[in-house]
Amino acid sequence: MSDHRPQRRARLLDSVARQRAESILVSFLPNVRYLCGFTGSNGLLLITPKTAILFTDPRYEIQAAQECDCEVKIVKGSPWPAAATEARRRHVPRLALEADKVSFDQWSAFASQLGKKVSLVPVRELVEALRAVKSQDEIAAIRRSVQVCSKAFTQTVRKIRPGMAEFEVAAELDHRMRMLGAEAPAFETIVASGPRTALPHARPGAGTLRPNQLLLVDMGASVAGYSSDMTRVLHIGHPGTRARALYHAVLEAQLAAISAVRPGATCGDVDNAARRSLRKAKLDRYFTHSTGHGLGLEIHEAPRVAARTETRLQPGMVITIEPGVYLEEFGGVRIEDTVLVTETGVEVLTPTTKEFLVIPS
Ligand code: ZN
Ligand code: ZN
Repeated sequence: MSDHRPQRRARLLDSVARQRAESILVSFLPNVRYLCGFTGSNGLLLITPKTAILFTDPRYEIQAAQECDCEVKIVKGSPWPAAATEARRRHVPRLALEADKVSFDQWSAFASQLGKKVSLVPVRELVEALRAVKSQDEIAAIRRSVQVCSKAFTQTVRKIRPGMAEFEVAAELDHRMRMLGAEAPAFETIVASGPRTALPHARPGAGTLRPNQLLLVDMGASVAGYSSDMTRVLHIGHPGTRARALYHAVLEAQLAAISAVRPGATCGDVDNAARRSLRKAKLDRYFTHSTGHGLGLEIHEAPRVAARTETRLQPGMVITIEPGVYLEEFGGVRIEDTVLVTETGVEVLTPTTKEFLVIPS
């Protein structure tokens, strides 16, 4: 992935120029990683037309030298004053700063460190827009992540039995993801059973799996920094009519949204396809979140696949499609795949079956 970084920085400076600045100081760490490779927890990246310099502290001296393809400056304490000094020394006239990622206090302190000769230009989502369209290497990493996630799920499903606690299932999924090559789960694994499946972001609890209940698993792996995201709903024992109807309505909505994914379609079109399908089943009012999100170095990143979102899909975007329906006291069903926007349409990357899986009770 390192060979793409100078190109990424050059493309970023093009979008910085459209905002009437010529240099940028990047502070949001996933963006810093994307642009220079640095994975540490403290770093600022100054990019000018002539150079790229990472400012970090002595803890990262060895690591930064190994990871980065740019100049590295080690500074004790906060890197902000050092970045300000460098910008002044280089006579940068207009410096862009990620306005939505910096606190008001940070902005004010940095502006005074820069002095009067360097003016700060607020910019938003410039790196995020570049990150939304993935390179072949990034897509390859996401494919590996998806494989690890799905394999860990399949291996774990065989071991799930009534009487297990939700957190035991989550621990098993996390363990298997790591054993299969994930550096970590991409987010805290969600395992919820029974009426708790109606909480879209339920934390795994000590409650045990009981017969005749829904079981929802939402999980993802992080591989080489890149995320996958998948939700499946199973049933402990044979599902009744209501659970089956709910499952099939959500599955239809998910398939309808996937069919709407193609280059040029807006994210709003995709969201609407899921909502329209659920409306036919009179379930649309229980679909309380958006249809999906981009993913990559972060589990939630651009584009948002939500109602009335005008962002147009482009080949190379990787998004989730995850409609869900949540009925209080009964439970919820969400089905989520990670999908790639291709030149001609869509490729569903998640290989896991979308049959309504039954755990013997
Ligand atoms: Zn998910
Ligand atoms: Zn998701």
